[in-house]
Amino acid sequence: MSGKVVVGGVHIKRENLAKIIETKGARLKNDLTGQISLLVHGDLTSQVVTNMKIQFSDKLLEIVTQDRRKHHVCVVSSAGFSELLIGRTAKCLHDYVAGRGAAT
Ligand SMILES: [Zn+2]
Repeated sequence: MSGKVVVGGVHIKRENLAKIIETKGARLKNDLTGQISLLVHGDLTSQVVTNMKIQFSDKLLEIVTQDRRKHHVCVVSSAGFSELLIGRTAKCLHDYVAGRGAAT
């Protein structure tokens, strides 16, 4: 989790996110390691456009590092996360993030 995560228009606190995620059989981790499979980046908009400015947080930079190790960490926005919670699919923003990160 990174940034402000909003589900259904409501900002969800981290401790509540942890509980929600556990009901889905996953675990919330604060450190990004090789075990991470999904980064929810609350500050990313759902519609990523090419001129969008990404604040390259430590977590996003770690995505780039993991990418170089051939470990694909999926990245979704708050909107994407909301979709996943109700069993729908979400657009993976990994390629965009990794591409932008590699260019900086
Ligand atoms: Zn992915």
